[in-house]
Amino acid sequence: MAKAKLPELRTMVRERGLRATPSRLAVLELLLANASGQPMSHAEVAEKLAAGPWDPATIYRNLTDLVEVGLARRTDVGDHIWRFEVVSATHDAAGHPHFVCTECGTVECLPVMEFVMPRSKTPRALKQRKVEVHVRGVCDTCL
Ligand SMILES: [Zn+2]
Ligand SMILES: [Zn+2]
Repeated sequence: MAKAKLPELRTMVRERGLRATPSRLAVLELLLANASGQPMSHAEVAEKLAAGPWDPATIYRNLTDLVEVGLARRTDVGDHIWRFEVVSATHDAAGHPHFVCTECGTVECLPVMEFVMPRSKTPRALKQRKVEVHVRGVCDTCL
């Protein structure tokens, strides 16, 4: 994905009612560059932005701010680590499944899957796409 330009990032953030602070823009830019790849934990984001002048607490606040206004979403694949990813036209907000490697713990985004089952047996949360789907197995690198 092409690097988002600074004015675009500013507009995205301001349209959601947030101030376009340099750290917030840097966090959003990083998530956008990573879209449709792998959701990132706070530690990974902080590490990638370690060259910047921001402390990890600021970066964490930026991540949760972006989640609150709907520019990002967070998911816990069962290891009690929040992972963050951008919400955009190409990286849907409705929620796609994630592949979790049982060996190395890598998390990858998967395309949206449709569940084929009788409508009468489908839980309401599933119809409304209010579920998280995690597929567990061994990743290509570990296989
Ligand atoms: Zn693996
Ligand atoms: Zn994802």
